[in-house]
Amino acid sequence: MPVTVPLSRGLRKASRYRSAATRAVAVSAVVGASLSALAAADPNAEAQPSNPVAIAAAPHDARFTAFTPYEAQMPQFVPPEVTDFLRNLGIEQARPKTVRPVAGPLTSGFGARWGAMHAGIDFGDGLGTPIRAVTDGTVLEAGPASGFGLWVRIQQDDGTIGVYGHMQDILVQPGQQVRAGDEIATVGSRGYSTGPHLHYEVHTSPGVQIDPLPWLAGRGMDVGTVSD
Ligand SMILES: [Zn+2]
Repeated sequence: MPVTVPLSRGLRKASRYRSAATRAVAVSAVVGASLSALAAADPNAEAQPSNPVAIAAAPHDARFTAFTPYEAQMPQFVPPEVTDFLRNLGIEQARPKTVRPVAGPLTSGFGARWGAMHAGIDFGDGLGTPIRAVTDGTVLEAGPASGFGLWVRIQQDDGTIGVYGHMQDILVQPGQQVRAGDEIATVGSRGYSTGPHLHYEVHTSPGVQIDPLPWLAGRGMDVGTVSD
């Protein structure tokens, strides 16, 4: 998408012209955000606009050109820091914030099962299959746990705690930052388990489990239903 980003001198002049005001407002938000990021990254960046890089010229539009000051019609330049920021912003906004932990099917839901409370959901998958972090987060605990064999507890991006159980191998350490989709462990059958699967719980506070399915659905993820 072509983007035209007049720098501050052109912007101020353009804003004097009523017919150009709409454009100036449209781009000023982009420039404002970009310059804020620049200022955070380098306090001297505004004062030293080195290595200007053209990102695009505006497509010709007679309705605007007729009323746009000459300076605003010139090819526009922005520092590479700004183009990097905008590119990274796009990548960040495009990446998924919720990831299915394994591709295997849902094999057990949340609730009473076999006369006991099943406080999470199960996904069947092969031994050694990569398990991915469902959300961004911070690893709270990773190691042996009663019933789980091995578990990983992650503080998730919304403050809930995600608990992963029965893994074969753990690939993260307490304190580690993870992003949604990062491989954190592999599917196993340790602990109270009848075959290789991932057990996943969501806690709203320590020891308070909720049904992960509506929680996942609220984040736009449908992991299917239990079929037997
Ligand atoms: Zn389970």
